[in-house]
Amino acid sequence: MKRALITGITGQDGAYLAKFLIKKNYKVYGTFRRTSTPNFWRLKYLKILEKINLIPSDILDYGSIYQSIKISKPNEIYNLAAQSFVKVSFEQPSVTTELDGVSTLRYLEAIRLLNPKIKFYQASTSEIYGNQIKKKINEETKMLPSSPYGAAKLYSFHTVKIYRAAYNLFASNGILFNHESPIRGLEFVTRKVTNAAAQIKLGLIKKLELGNLDIFRDWGNAEEYVEGMWKILQHKNPDDFVVATGKSYSIRNLLSFSFSRLGLDWRKYVVQKKSLYRAVDVRHLLGDCKKMKKIIGWYPKIQFKDTVEQMVDEDLKRWTDKINGKSFPWDAENYPTNIKVVYRKRKKY
Ligand code: NAP
Repeated sequence: MKRALITGITGQDGAYLAKFLIKKNYKVYGTFRRTSTPNFWRLKYLKILEKINLIPSDILDYGSIYQSIKISKPNEIYNLAAQSFVKVSFEQPSVTTELDGVSTLRYLEAIRLLNPKIKFYQASTSEIYGNQIKKKINEETKMLPSSPYGAAKLYSFHTVKIYRAAYNLFASNGILFNHESPIRGLEFVTRKVTNAAAQIKLGLIKKLELGNLDIFRDWGNAEEYVEGMWKILQHKNPDDFVVATGKSYSIRNLLSFSFSRLGLDWRKYVVQKKSLYRAVDVRHLLGDCKKMKKIIGWYPKIQFKDTVEQMVDEDLKRWTDKINGKSFPWDAENYPTNIKVVYRKRKKY
């Protein structure tokens, strides 16, 4: 039986990857950090919590990383843990750099010292490219990140390549473009929209405030992308791969898909706020996954509209169940939409 260690198992991708690997008959270990309130709702939602071997470990803490590898003795490590929200990387740049940059080095060092045969997958991101207006991005495109998040992930990207070259480690970067699902974090625009659309439909809220609607993204489906991660580690050689759909949609498209699923016209409910604009934002991201298709044999099949409709349906069901007094694993009821959060004033981000 193969053994896998997943960091960030409580997040969107970690939960779906765990489900996928359990189906593949892996023994799955996952690390989680200590929080004052346990955060296993995604694993419960996917009905896999009891099938996972959980190890407490914080990715800032080298000793606990080392121990997690010693305990799990993995054939494969999937390094998904990160501070994954670009906006927060402007508010908390130092910790984002530690988490999304230096922690990757910690894992690679621990692998080098403990067992250099362990295969390592690094969760890289399209944000390492920064603004590439209307250009299709592939592995050869120049990398010019425009956020502390992108810069930290670029450090990780290069560190993986360095350890591959210097120590012959099997370490690969999956350069994933945005990917979504009903268990996406609520601060990300897709889920923010589908969750609000469901609440508006049920009369629970009246408006949705958003920033720039002319942002374009290449949005994929998270469940489908985790299979791509696994396939990258099954290839005979370690390498770096763009994982994308090759199609981009605007936030206006996202709004239209979401609200029309519920028979609503989004223009009646969405308020655009200049204060929510980001001065340094990546306006347009579009990926080209030809290498992934040719070498790995993976390509995306699910359309963005179908993913959005799945998210809307699930959010509507959850709010309806909540109204009817049902209890189930979920994030939205604890999310501070109506609580005043005071951000420091900045001229830009
Ligand atoms: P996510 O839902 O935000 O999950 C992040 C995970 O990292 C959570 O399990 C979180 O734990 C964990 N984590 C954060 N800080 C930690 C710490 N100090 N110690 C241990 N664990 C920590 O992100 P995701 O969407 O699943 O993304 C997975 C990875 O892919 C991330 O590295 C992300 O940057 C990258 N990526 C994502 C996308 C995308 O569109 N989703 C695209 C490209 C790349 P808690 O649950 O305790 O917070």
